[in-house]
Amino acid sequence: MRVGLFGGSFNPIHLGHLRSAEEDREALELDLVYFVPAASPPHKAEGELAPAEHRLQMTRLATKGNRHFMVSDIEMRRGGSSYSIDTVKYFLATLRQPATLYLLMGADQFAELETWKSCDEMVSLCNLAVHTRVAEGNNEPPRFSLAALKRFGYIKADDHYVHPSGKTLSFVATTILPISATAIRRKLHQHLSINYLVPGDVVDYIHRHQLY
Ligand code: ATP
Repeated sequence: MRVGLFGGSFNPIHLGHLRSAEEDREALELDLVYFVPAASPPHKAEGELAPAEHRLQMTRLATKGNRHFMVSDIEMRRGGSSYSIDTVKYFLATLRQPATLYLLMGADQFAELETWKSCDEMVSLCNLAVHTRVAEGNNEPPRFSLAALKRFGYIKADDHYVHPSGKTLSFVATTILPISATAIRRKLHQHLSINYLVPGDVVDYIHRHQLY
């Protein structure tokens, strides 16, 4: 079984998250993608973070129509700072079938890889897939810091990078949807519409619970 883990604050979840996860799923032939909302994202300031239960519920609403999409509350149950290494270890220990794990992330998150807790251990336990939001017709290779790439060797025939452990790093070109949760929260503050940036059920949920 091939499983993707997609972590984030999902504050709120939006179509940029959903579309990139869908394209990652197809490109990597994943059976399941688990969305894993963070209890407390270590790389983000606390301000503006909606309560965990609401972010979890919005993630459930957004993904409920897709049989390949699952939501895990493991980071919320664990509480405290949410470190990917702990989540990867949890999934490796608890998935019922032997699974190949892919940690899915955007390029902005990959650029900070060096700062992640137990980064070296993590890249030896789990494959990484970075969606690069490449524009249509633009075949330029993504430019990433050598610091992040130096742990991997490039295998030209397979067009991916390999860690000495055998785990891979792939770049998945996905449709650019330049949507951010920050911009959505800003629109809400300005009493502007967020329709078509987030799924309709999530729009309703945000208004019903007066989030942001
Ligand atoms: P914020 O604006 O609050 O910082 P965000 O929109 O960047 O939030 P996160 O929950 O922080 O969303 O992101 C979770 C993951 O989704 C990260 O790996 C991030 O790179 C990726 N991501 C965020 N926005 C997009 C997007 N529009 N398209 C593809 N991936 C995205």
